[in-house]
Order: sequence, then C-alpha cells, then structure tokens
Amino acid sequence: MAKDNKNINKKPKFNPYWIYGIIIAAFLAINLFSGGFGGSSSKQINPSEFFDYMRDGDVAKVDIVNGREARVYLTKDALEKEIHKNSKPSNILPSVTPQPNYTFEFGELELFQKKIEGINEADNNVFVPTSYKTEENVWGNFIFSLLPFILIIGVWIFIMRRMSGGAGGGAGGQIFNIGKSKAKLFDEKTDVKTSFRDVAGLEGAKEEVQEIVDFLKNPEKYTSLGGKIPKGALLVGQPGTGKTLLAKAVAGEAKVPFFSLSGSDFVEMFVGVGASRVRDLFKQAKEKSPAIIFIDEIDAIGRARGKSNFSGSNDERENTLNQLLTEMDGFGTNTNVIVLAATNRADVLDKALMRAGRFDRQIFVDLPDVRERKEIFEVHLRPIKQSEKLDIDFLAKQTPGFSGADIANVCNEAALIAARNGKKAVDKQDFLDAVDRIVGGLEKKNKIITKEEKKAIAFHEAGHATVSWMLEHAAPLVKVTIVPRGQSLGAAWYLPEERLIVRPEQMLDEMCAALGGRAAEKVIFDKISTGALSDLEKVTKQARAMVTIYGLSDKVGNLTYYDSSGQSEYGFTKPYSEQTAELIDNEISDIVEKQYQRAISLLEQHKDKLTELAEVLLEKEVIFKDNLEKIFGKRPFEKKELVEDKTASKTEEE
Ligand code: ADP
Ligand code: ZN
Repeated sequence: MAKDNKNINKKPKFNPYWIYGIIIAAFLAINLFSGGFGGSSSKQINPSEFFDYMRDGDVAKVDIVNGREARVYLTKDALEKEIHKNSKPSNILPSVTPQPNYTFEFGELELFQKKIEGINEADNNVFVPTSYKTEENVWGNFIFSLLPFILIIGVWIFIMRRMSGGAGGGAGGQIFNIGKSKAKLFDEKTDVKTSFRDVAGLEGAKEEVQEIVDFLKNPEKYTSLGGKIPKGALLVGQPGTGKTLLAKAVAGEAKVPFFSLSGSDFVEMFVGVGASRVRDLFKQAKEKSPAIIFIDEIDAIGRARGKSNFSGSNDERENTLNQLLTEMDGFGTNTNVIVLAATNRADVLDKALMRAGRFDRQIFVDLPDVRERKEIFEVHLRPIKQSEKLDIDFLAKQTPGFSGADIANVCNEAALIAARNGKKAVDKQDFLDAVDRIVGGLEKKNKIITKEEKKAIAFHEAGHATVSWMLEHAAPLVKVTIVPRGQSLGAAWYLPEERLIVRPEQMLDEMCAALGGRAAEKVIFDKISTGALSDLEKVTKQARAMVTIYGLSDKVGNLTYYDSSGQSEYGFTKPYSEQTAELIDNEISDIVEKQYQRAISLLEQHKDKLTELAEVLLEKEVIFKDNLEKIFGKRPFEKKELVEDKTASKTEEE
C-alpha cells in the first residue's frame, strides 16, 4: 500500500522509454484501423454461393475493389433471411460508411463480369449494379513512408545512450544528462574511509596536504587573519605512486565529500559538453561544500593551448580548460572547495593553470625509495595471511623502481599464487614469484630454445655477472636467470645504489657491465649475436646522455642540450651545428667502444671463472649472490650499507 502511495505522489517524469512505447502503441492502433478499412471483418464466401444469392435476388450491389476482390452488399429484405444471419458486419468501431456483408476473391475479372452480366440478362427480376473502386492501403503506405524516420530516430537514441555512458541520473536519463558532470561522489559519511594511515611513505607530500586538511577543517583560522584558502594543488608523479590515494586520504582526514573524475571524462564529441560538465561539477561541489574535487590525468584537458593545433579539433578541449580556469577564479575563497589534480607531466600543462590562485601548489609524489617501499609493503601485507614472519626489508630491496601500485599488485599476486598452489598461507617464495611475474611477465615454460641458444644465453648472462662483480662502481648483483620470461630470454638483476649525483666512472662501469654480455659471447664463441639489443640500446642512450645532457665529455665540454621546459620544438632542428653533431657522434662511439674493450679484456683474464659460472647457470637456471661468491670469493668492494637509486633500471635484460 505504502508503495502505491509513493508512486502516485511521484511526479511523472519524462522517460525516453516512452518513445518506444508510443511507437509500439501507434503500430497497434494503425493495425486495428487498417483492419477496419481492409474489410476483413466481413464474412468470406465463395463465388458460387454469391451467384446463388444473386439469382435469389438478395444482392443489392457489388463493389469490385482493385480488380481483385468483390464486396457484396445485401438488400434489406435479404438480411432478414435465415441463411444471412451471420452476415452482419462485425466491426468493433462503428463505421460511417456501410460495410459489405460478404467479400470474396473472384479470380479472373473478365470471367466474373461476364457471369454477372449473364445472370443480369437472364433474369429480369434481378439487376445487380457493379461499381469499380481502387482502394489504396492508406495506412500501410503511411507507415511505410514513416519507417525510415522511425529507424533513424531509434538509431539516434541508441547512439546517444551509448555515448553518455552508464553514469548520470536515473534509468535512461542519459540523453538529457550529457552536459552533467560524470564525477563520482564519495560521501564523507559512508565512503571516504581512507586516511593518512593508508598512505605509506610520501612524508613530504603528506605534510603539504596536511595544510589543505587544516584549511578544510577550520577555514576561519586562516581567513580571520586575512589569508586566502588555496584553491588547488597539483599532484605530480608517475602513475601508481599514490596520487589518487593521497587525495582520497585528504578528503577522509578532513571528513569532506570527495568528487573524483578523470580529465578525459570532460571530453565528448559534442561542442560545449566539456564546459558544461565543468560548470555542473563545480555547482555540485559547492552544494556540498566544503568538498574536494579530484581530477585525475588533468593533462587530458590541461595541455598547453594553441600548440600542435593543426586541425582545430582541440577547440573543444580549450573551451573546457577555459571553463575550468573561469570556475577556479570564480569561486570565492569562502566556498571551501579545493581542487586537487593529478598528472605525470607537469611540464606539458598550460601555464595558465599554474598561475597564482589556481593550481599554485605543486606537490611531487615520487617513486618510493627502499624505506618507503618497506612501509608500503607493511600497509598491503596487513590483510594477507602469511605463513612465516616475512622479511619485509628483503622484499623492499628486491623491488627497486616499483611504484606503490606495483607493490600492492605484488602482494595481491603473491596471495593468488599461493592460492593456486593450494597453500594455506603466503610464503616468501610466493612473493619472489610475484615480483618476477610483475617484472617479466609470465614464465614461458614452453618457449622452444635449442641447446646452443641456451648455452649462448648462459654465457651472455654470466658475462654480465662476471664484469659487474669485478668492477668497483657497478651495481651489485642480486640474481641471474636464464628462464625466459615475456620478451626476455634471461636477465641479470642488480641492486642499484642510492646516488643523488652520479660520477662518470660509475656510469662507465655500468656501461661496461652492460656490454659484458656481448663481450662474453665474443670471448667464448668468437661470435656475436642479436641477443644484446637491449644492452646496446641502454648503453648508447647512456653515452649520449653523458655527452649531450650531463656535459661529461671533454671534447664537447660543459654544455647541455637538454631543455627542462620540454616546450622547445627541437624535433626538427638540432640546437647544435653539423660539426658539433659529428663530434657528439664520435664521442659516443668512442665511449662505448672503450667500455666494450675493457669488458673483453676483463673476461679474457677471468675466462675460467666465467665458464664455471655459465655452467652453474646452465644447471640451475637461477643463481643468486651466494653462488657467485662461491666462485669468485667475496666481492672486494662490498661496503657501507646499501640503499639504492630509484632512477636506475631494475633489471638488466637480454
Ligand atoms: P595514481 O593515482 O598515482 O596513479 P593510485 O593512487 O591510484 O595511483 O594508486 C594505486 C594503488 O596503489 C592504490 O590504490 C594503493 O593500493 C597503492 N599505493 C600507491 N601508493 C601507495 C602508498 N604510498 N601507500 C600505500 N599504497 C599505495
Ligand atoms: Zn645482456
């Protein structure tokens, strides 16, 4: 009962499903009507019956319709007769025009006419007039001509629904909601449960956003002194470093609602939609103020305007950006709406976005270092059932270069692997497998590798391992494997050191180790292979960087051709002369060649150990530092506690 009342009280809203309803109703109605016109409600008889009635004088007239059908009208007297009892037209709708009593199809028109004439002439009492009619199926034709329109409208509705996606108001309301923002609202009472406790590491960033939390909690404290509340902050960092998480935590700590959407959500095919969505978003946020708006991937709309605008198709994006700027300028400091935006490329953003009063704060969210990784592991290990006390330090060390999202992924993957193997709890090996899996993709157990190839790979990887073991500044080795994974056939993993500044000798040692793979092939087989592609790529890039970016080459000197603003159009013109270009090329190949020779002479000196290592590797497929120590003895340069460098690559792959 209560339910019914509710329905009655509800205002009937226009619902696009009605359109379908109306179309169907129209079809039904038309069918009904055309039934009436078509005369199908009259009783069907066969021609011989008709001629009998005619001879009896019962027929008043005959209409011949479309040269095909005869419609028979009886005389008044005949209607009284017993045999014509059922001939009353049975129309549902009362009709103005008289309805025929019988209809039938007579076949050949001429024969039929002759027959009627014959009866008319033979019997003087009987004269049945015939008239000819052409009747078009008006309604049928009408529908037929409407059909294309109906189809077009149907398709259009379908497309509109598709484009405006599943978000937005009630069922089927999307056509009319296309200008509404697609922001997802996390309500402070129910959804925003994230707190700073869930964000591990990121101390600096947390400190900076703490201020925003304070603003939102008690704005008077700041405004009473005449200060202005910031309107926006830009979170800059690589994907997966926890920008969304941080923004959510701010909302959770300040206990305010959180509107989350991505920059690309504004962009739509229609002109003006983006701008109207921005307007709507800010309207909604103001209604719920104090609130936080989080725009992920703001570069989708915030790219510098007027650049690479060849086709003019960026106009819509510009409009959206302009609207965003207007809204940010427009809302006063007392609205208490703070916009947080995330990007991994602050340099491509339009400078207008960064102006004072807009996103004037930039908060950098870096990839975590080893200590922060440990904290992130602690957060994500909380829900996981562990079989033993896991050495989190070890895990953190095994995952250089991983982002927070990667680590969350490792923990999840480890649990999945353990479950797959039917274990009751997750152990260390599961974590190591998960790390391998995330770095290299799935193990390819069935990749076909010949014995020869396997041997070449083993020597190649052993070459890397040997050279890096012998060089003071090369990063210490963690493990070497010749298990093919993803694209790579084998890999040597290092633990890069934490270094804020890198010296040339360190770079050179690393390059030498990277070339160790190819050098080993050369020393052992006197043949080289394509297997060293990624090594060469890395080395070449590094050598180029030494010369053109860091100014580490004597011949080129203390110059850099690096442009930190990223806005120059060096794509077409080089910022240096032809002579310099030649000099740079020479320097690069000089550097690489020297390191290659160095690797070769090192390996020649230690050929026996290299061979020994390669054999162990062939046998075990995966070897760790301990195995190397057995062969080479303790590494002479082992020193200080190691923290590692986040910029260095995490693996060294074939
Ligand atoms: P971004 O927005 O920077 O791309 P997210 O905030 O979406 O990254 O992070 C994805 C996931 O990674 C988070 O949901 C969280 O599980 C995990 N994560 C990332 N950084 C951290 C961190 N510092 N502490 C804890 N978890 C993190
Ligand atoms: Zn290699």
